[in-house]
Amino acid sequence: MAQYSTDDFINEPKIAYFSMEIGIRSDMPTYSGGLGVLAGDTVKSATDLKLPMIAITLLTKKGYFKQELDIYGRQTELPDELDPVKFMIPIKERVSVCIENRDVAVAAWLYVIESATGGRMPVLFLDTDLPENEEQDRGIAYHLYGGDQVYRLKQEIVLGIGGVRMLECLGFEIKKYHMNEGHSSLLTLELLLRYKKDIEEVWDEKLVWDFDKVRSLCVFTTHTPVAAGHDKFSYDIVGRVLCNMLPIEVMKDLGGKDNLNLTLLALNLSNYVNGVAKKHGEVSQGMFPGYHINAITNGVHSFSWTCDSMKRLFDKYLPGWANEPEIFVRVGRIPDDELWTAHMEAKRILIDYVNREAQADMNYDTFTIGFARRATAYKRADLLFTDVEKLARIGEGRLQIIYAGKAHPRDENGKMLIQKIFEYKDRLKDRLKVVFLKNYNMELALKLVSGVDVWLNTPLRPLEASGTSGMKATHNGVPNFSVLDGWWIEGHIEGFTGWAIGPSSEVAADPSKDADDLYHKLEHVIIPAFYNDKHLWIRIMQNAIGKNAYYFNTHRMMRRYVTEAYIR
Ligand SMILES: *Cc1c(COP(=O)(O)O)cnc(C)c1O
Repeated sequence: MAQYSTDDFINEPKIAYFSMEIGIRSDMPTYSGGLGVLAGDTVKSATDLKLPMIAITLLTKKGYFKQELDIYGRQTELPDELDPVKFMIPIKERVSVCIENRDVAVAAWLYVIESATGGRMPVLFLDTDLPENEEQDRGIAYHLYGGDQVYRLKQEIVLGIGGVRMLECLGFEIKKYHMNEGHSSLLTLELLLRYKKDIEEVWDEKLVWDFDKVRSLCVFTTHTPVAAGHDKFSYDIVGRVLCNMLPIEVMKDLGGKDNLNLTLLALNLSNYVNGVAKKHGEVSQGMFPGYHINAITNGVHSFSWTCDSMKRLFDKYLPGWANEPEIFVRVGRIPDDELWTAHMEAKRILIDYVNREAQADMNYDTFTIGFARRATAYKRADLLFTDVEKLARIGEGRLQIIYAGKAHPRDENGKMLIQKIFEYKDRLKDRLKVVFLKNYNMELALKLVSGVDVWLNTPLRPLEASGTSGMKATHNGVPNFSVLDGWWIEGHIEGFTGWAIGPSSEVAADPSKDADDLYHKLEHVIIPAFYNDKHLWIRIMQNAIGKNAYYFNTHRMMRRYVTEAYIR
């Protein structure tokens, strides 16, 4: 890594990809969940494809958090320290941003993603932990999604405004700014200042702002229909923290009358906007009438989300798959027994891990369901336990269940969900093995999605914008059993690629019936197929790869961003 400098990358104009979190490697705690992992997969595919891109994010030195769980499932959070020297190169240049009328110096660390294709891509991690800054400003980037509203706004100033200034300072020429979620949309304000029209006699103050120019430079991806996912700041806070960047009337025109809404700001200043799955595009269109919302369905980085045993198998029968996931269409060339053997190898690694970490006493041959994602109300981690007796009757002696997931430190309901699962686990302990693994991260995610037999997802429709862990499962031949929301609406073919829970996305949701449907299929369709019809089961595993992994990968996604959003 040490051999690189940012000068190595200023040879051609670039797409600047801004994201509050980017999960590149499990041991760099610069991500919390789906958004960050997607950002990481995005830049990895961009590197494989040699796209002219640079990514900008924050150096979250204290990470999101390390999760501890006591025997009751009560979560405590510990800092997840990051020492950038181990991974990145410090950059000498400094820029400054105005925060609360102080000049805050911003530095950057360079991380270079290296692809086996020869692609190289720079990622800048912005940092304010500098001796020249006042004590109170040194920790602005420390905690991912930590602190209060003021803290969040300061981070977003560093990311959006500091990011654009750093790119310029380092000599990068930027042809598109891609805002991955609204967190970075303050960058539009910096661009407005930069592209002010040169009008001699201004008779209307508003004429100096070149909104069209800024729009032509900006692409915005919205990621969630959940209100909390859209940052809003009172103009009182904005006035205090953001200094007087732009006249307040201009900000209100662009970001909303009552609050500065960063999603609205991004919508108003981007000429390409998209949601992250077809359904999410439609839902977002309903949330933001008057804007044109496109849809580019998410994917995952195939190479990163395929376990070792499957990688070996794909290399043998589908050479070239990692940089051309379309080759999965030929999955039928893999002999059934070899596919099963590769799966069992991954399953053994997982079960050994679970037994070692949690003394779960699970076994290799029992049908195993996996469920791991952020513990938050709409994901309904407890749906499986709606009728504990019934679950025990269906699963006794033939089902084991593995859970994992963190709750945001201030999401009390999410924390309660983890405790509930611990309660059920104890209640069922003589009849059904359930385990909850602590500290869900990318490394554990790969073990889980490759080592279970079915990947379960039970969100409350239509709140799962896309979901990506199910796509990871498909790369390992693990079929999905999920509510028809997000990506699964597009990936699901009943009994062929996996199974649906509840009705089609075309008809009204009836969450009260979801659990019944889940139990019914588990008992009468899925468990019998697993134990009694290996031939059918392996067909479904093949289809997960050949029909789902084939499509739900970030190589396909990036090619679409290029043709639909970047080259316009
Ligand atoms: C993939 C991933 C997620 C996102 O999964 P969803 O299914 O979208 O909830 C979250 N956390 C980690 C660690 C992941 O690897």
